[in-house]
Amino acid sequence: MYSACVMPAPSEPLRVDQFPAPTLQPGAALLRTLYSEVCGTDVHLHHGRLDVPFPIIPGHVSVGVVEQSGGGLRDIEGSPIKEGDVVTFLDVHETCNNCYYCLVARQPTKCPHRKVYGISYSATEGLLGGWAEAIWMKPGVKMIKLPPELTPETFIGGGCGLVTALHAVDMAEVRLGESVVVLGVGPVGQSIVAFSSLSGAGEIIAVGAPQARLDFAKRMGATHTLGLDLPVEARVESVRRLTGGRGADVVIEGSGAPEAVRDALDMVRDGGRVVICGQYTDNGSIEIHPHWQINRKHVEIKGCWGSRYDHFHRAVALTARYGNQKPWREMVSGRFTLAQANDALAAVENRTAIKAVITPNPSLV
Ligand SMILES: [Zn+2]
Ligand SMILES: [Zn+2]
Repeated sequence: MYSACVMPAPSEPLRVDQFPAPTLQPGAALLRTLYSEVCGTDVHLHHGRLDVPFPIIPGHVSVGVVEQSGGGLRDIEGSPIKEGDVVTFLDVHETCNNCYYCLVARQPTKCPHRKVYGISYSATEGLLGGWAEAIWMKPGVKMIKLPPELTPETFIGGGCGLVTALHAVDMAEVRLGESVVVLGVGPVGQSIVAFSSLSGAGEIIAVGAPQARLDFAKRMGATHTLGLDLPVEARVESVRRLTGGRGADVVIEGSGAPEAVRDALDMVRDGGRVVICGQYTDNGSIEIHPHWQINRKHVEIKGCWGSRYDHFHRAVALTARYGNQKPWREMVSGRFTLAQANDALAAVENRTAIKAVITPNPSLV
């Protein structure tokens, strides 16, 4: 039997339950969990903001050691995955490659059949979330071996914010020398700053709070920071001043605050691009002036939902290559056991930890 943390229903305290080991078919595996992250989505789940099959075992992005293999495990290069390998895995599973969104629209993140570990599987289906001593890799789950130069702490420090940020920066098509405003300095915003910087952006202006996170964004590559203590008009004015009076070429919203979408449209230059990836749950509405803020500005607006295998694959490669240059590892500011999961959620909600992680097997890390 393995211990796992169960979120029984919105607002109810989490508890630790026992789960039997799954029977492993060929292509399946059981991971011993090293780290599973706690992200804003877990807080939103606990507030009942997403429609999921409670009870659930939370934890979508995780790192573990292959404890047991059902046989026949290979990564996408064809290289075998063996017991003892340290891996992460794409939390999205069962994308069907057989529906309109997969095959015609070619937007697999909108496939209605996709399942996400730690979010859309029920605890009644087994060990399908990362806040557990072990995680059941169903056949077909895409595992990626962490290369030797990539420590698990570096990868989990970026966590799911890494893949979201990479998708958003891809969609923004940041070109060498362009100015980028990043709204939000949580885990998603920090990685947007890092990837914009690695893309060769010019000015990178990070906007958010508190001051410690703005300071951290400078270490990730921000050239300027603007605090939320400044009135919004002053923030917009500062962005203009830093971008030749025009506004930024690109604004990427990763904050979760609806007002940030309005601000993004005020901060972008005429003909610029805005990518919105922070509104993953329903935080309310905001008034937009279509004439002044969109049509007349000739602005391009893109919504970014979920991530694909290619984002995950490249996020592993990028953290391996640049983990010594960008301090993802230091984003882990709180470690919690399964029994402390309620405290972990509170730490993320109260912003006392930029990134909290669950260590279900503390003796292994
Ligand atoms: Zn599909
Ligand atoms: Zn997440």
